[in-house]
Amino acid sequence: MSLPVNPEKPRRLFLALWPEAQERQSIARLAARATGRQRRIADDLLHLTLVFLGKTPADRLAAYEAALADLPVPEMELVLDRYGYWPQSRILWLGSSHTPPELYELVAELHRRLRDCGFAPEEPAFRAHVTLARRFSGPVPTELPPVPIRWRVNEVALVESTPPPRIAHYEVLRYWPERR
Ligand code: ATP
Ligand code: MG
Repeated sequence: MSLPVNPEKPRRLFLALWPEAQERQSIARLAARATGRQRRIADDLLHLTLVFLGKTPADRLAAYEAALADLPVPEMELVLDRYGYWPQSRILWLGSSHTPPELYELVAELHRRLRDCGFAPEEPAFRAHVTLARRFSGPVPTELPPVPIRWRVNEVALVESTPPPRIAHYEVLRYWPERR
């Protein structure tokens, strides 16, 4: 039996690039190769966070949705061709050696529009990456991914994060531009 949705309860949200099946499979394959027997992010959770919105009450979400209604999202190609590792968080990630400037512009535009709704980003500067593993303690891959992944991007996903023990850890609520 599913729990009734409480409209008053703030939801934990973020904006992301959400890979389609084919890209997801390619990223998952690289993740498996890079992490070996180490624990990694489940395939269906792989994503690239653009803006972490955090706990968002319903009225605030409505304001965000209105502000993003006509968001222009240019078609871009993100070439995932390098691994990275952040020792403090022990995050192993996949990224691009040439992140397209359009992606930084998109994030800046999101910040501009959200700021007008009272959003104050708490995160440091945007760093385009797909997290492959957390608390990673295996050898960090020093080689480049054997085949770069060409990820065509043309939409922004609004994603809800539900902490365990709920089964769906992330759920895409909608996209911009709107899917018809
Ligand atoms: P958990 O926190 O339970 O380990 P999670 O990190 O996968 O799970 P969230 O914390 O809801 O889930 O994060 C969702 C996405 O937003 C992830 O990509 C995460 O890296 C990113 N994120 C979370 N908190 C922040 C933050 N303070 N600043 C920037 N990005 C964040
Ligand atoms: Mg987290």
